[in-house]
Amino acid sequence: MIIDVVSIFPDYLAPLGLSLVGKAREQGTVTINVHDLRQWTTDRHRTVDDTPLGGGAGMVMKPDVWGQALDSVFAHEELIAPHGDKEAAGVVSPDGAVTDGGESPPRRVLIIPTPSGQSFSQRHAHDLATVDHIAVACGRYEGIDARVADHYRDRGIEVAELSIGDYVLNGGEVAAMVMIEAIVRLIPGVVGNPHSLVEESHGEAGLLEYPVFTRPPSWRGLDAPAVLLSGHHGRIARWRRDQSLERTARRRPDMIEALDVTELDAHDQAL
Ligand code: SAM
Repeated sequence: MIIDVVSIFPDYLAPLGLSLVGKAREQGTVTINVHDLRQWTTDRHRTVDDTPLGGGAGMVMKPDVWGQALDSVFAHEELIAPHGDKEAAGVVSPDGAVTDGGESPPRRVLIIPTPSGQSFSQRHAHDLATVDHIAVACGRYEGIDARVADHYRDRGIEVAELSIGDYVLNGGEVAAMVMIEAIVRLIPGVVGNPHSLVEESHGEAGLLEYPVFTRPPSWRGLDAPAVLLSGHHGRIARWRRDQSLERTARRRPDMIEALDVTELDAHDQAL
């Protein structure tokens, strides 16, 4: 997978060199290029914004500069790794299965982070982890001229206008990092043990994860649940399932309402 991030503050994206995403880059599982939008400006002041048409507060990012930038990053498709190699082109589905990308043409997506977009979720992360080439356009000020999204859609590129939550940040860089981390960790080989991706919150079960504990069994007068020390796998699995259901009901009743009742067993339903 190739990810191109375009921003007027490329240094903001430095944490993408750390931890699991940094390792995935070193290992060549993902290529992440960070570009300074201003390299595509043509005037002396390297202008990227202008006043809003129709008036009003703030500034809007110019479509001509974004057009030059995105044309340029979408022009290097030849860099995309060929399909067929499960490790290079595959993806972990919510049930943990690894599938390859087949022989289909490269899939390209332009992500435009915006608080007015669809809510980014684990479902988007799974889908975007199958993409060959992602470009992320980090807006600032009042955002990017709306014609940029329309133009790339018209050119056959998938455009995803996505929000990371119902609040407003100063720019798209942090949102880009949130989405890139969520996407890249779903590429096979990035997270050491693929099974740790299966039982997570927001996975296929549609639940939050159960509470987790480690040694020591007793800490500051608090005992870890005895069942976890029992060695009885069946009972541990049942306890975890019950805890997941109870925690989800308490914290995210909307997720419980969205559950498919036919997927619940009699014990689940009795809770
Ligand atoms: N005027 C815009 C509005 O009200 O929808 C907000 C613009 S915001 C100050 C500047 C940039 O920050 C946006 O273009 C976007 O890139 C980013 N941004 C802010 N909040 C965001 C969020 N919740 N999710 C994703 N991106 C966000």
